[in-house]
Amino acid sequence: MEEKQSHLHKVNYAELTPAEFRIRMAAAPIAYLPLGTLEFHGEHMPLGSDAIQPAGFFNEIAAEAGGIVLPTLFLGPDRVETVSGSEYYGKDNGNHATLETQQYEPQILTGSAYWIPEELFILLIEGILKQLKRQGFKILVAHGHGPSTRQVINHTPEWEAKFGVRIFNLWGSENDDWNGFMSDHGAMLETSVVMKYRPDLVHIENLPEDPTQWPTGIRGYDPRIYASAEKGNEIVKIQKERILNKLGSALDQLKDQSEIKNE
Ligand SMILES: [Zn+2]
Repeated sequence: MEEKQSHLHKVNYAELTPAEFRIRMAAAPIAYLPLGTLEFHGEHMPLGSDAIQPAGFFNEIAAEAGGIVLPTLFLGPDRVETVSGSEYYGKDNGNHATLETQQYEPQILTGSAYWIPEELFILLIEGILKQLKRQGFKILVAHGHGPSTRQVINHTPEWEAKFGVRIFNLWGSENDDWNGFMSDHGAMLETSVVMKYRPDLVHIENLPEDPTQWPTGIRGYDPRIYASAEKGNEIVKIQKERILNKLGSALDQLKDQSEIKNE
């Protein structure tokens, strides 16, 4: 029994033998792509936070729904601004924070090394989709870094038509404010999910103790007050239910289509 389970849990593309690949593809032709970054997420969080969250989540989903988890990307697009000769990406520029209390001066945040132009990212994903289609994948779940996820969402109708692959992400149309998957930056939501998967990598004690002092590079609800592994469990549970439903009906549709073909 134990052996069978460890076999079921082998879901990473790079670890499969061709025979194992064929078995998993026949059961569920789903690919999962974690859209990571190497990016400052506050002094308390690991630089690979955008990779750790979707990779942890996709491993769980693949073990239940089937499918194969691709290696994590660490390059992605983001807003870019050049101020007196220096490029600032995404959260480097704290002047864009909605709340005045969360604003800070533009700076090259420690460890952020992920930025590529939008056009290159789009080409990269199209290249991946072409390869996945060629191997017979019918479904792609891609999620992670906000601007990467947004590009995938923007191109979903076009890519679905072009590659014949259904594409899903983890953002719903519902108000995800309190339970969204990776919809803040290093704050309550992201910190909680990293705490769930890699509690050893989160160091809340690195943040200022004074609650009136907002930590640089974080946007959302205060992780010092609201983040916990339990909250992470809650977030994952909600997202899991949603995506398992979507994948279940997508797989049923595929089955129906192949039955029609075979008649
Ligand atoms: Zn993030």
